Amino acid sequence: MAVSKTVAADIVKEAIAAGVTIVGENYVQEAREKFKALVQYPLSWHFIGHLQSNKAKYAVRLFDLIHTVDSLKLALELDKQAAKVDKVQQILVQVNISGEDTKSGIPADEAPRLISEISRMENIALKGLMTMPPYFYQPEKVRPFFAALRKLRDQIEQTQPNVSLSELSMGMTGDFEAAIREGATLVRIGTAIFGERQ
Ligand SMILES: *Cc1c(COP(=O)(O)O)cnc(C)c1O
Repeated sequence: MAVSKTVAADIVKEAIAAGVTIVGENYVQEAREKFKALVQYPLSWHFIGHLQSNKAKYAVRLFDLIHTVDSLKLALELDKQAAKVDKVQQILVQVNISGEDTKSGIPADEAPRLISEISRMENIALKGLMTMPPYFYQPEKVRPFFAALRKLRDQIEQTQPNVSLSELSMGMTGDFEAAIREGATLVRIGTAIFGERQ
């Protein structure tokens, strides 16, 4: 996925010409504007920022996959808003795999319960897990965190046979190779495609 936050629509068009088919945005308002400018392209739009419940109604209208669901409150609101537009909203659950206070995401030990609740929601389709590990200068040091997300996924699939978590959204410009080695199915790449952000 090409992370296009802060990147102008005209530049995103160049990336599309080069083969990009999935774009990731962090801010609902920015995405709404870009969506209008790029509506003629067959893009898949993903949301990767922190989503406030009061923006859920816009998010379900724009995004094919929301990576950052980390509370029951947000999941319930997405379910409700998706029902209103007759949509089944695809989502990932964001896990705070390192347990750092500064990171968003649900703590790993609370993820199974949240997932069990979400799996009962009619207008939500849970596709997998997402994480943002701590930053390390040496990407190999991040690998245990990616492995931990994969193991959590395996464990949840074993204990909740009705749940299938085929997508693992992990890895960015600095560490996507390590993430892929640990089973990432979606890597979120901004800087390596568009250059440094302002
Ligand atoms: C900005 C962002 C990225 C992309 O980061 P790069 O290091 O520029 O590749 C990936 N994931 C999330 C959640 C982001 O906010």
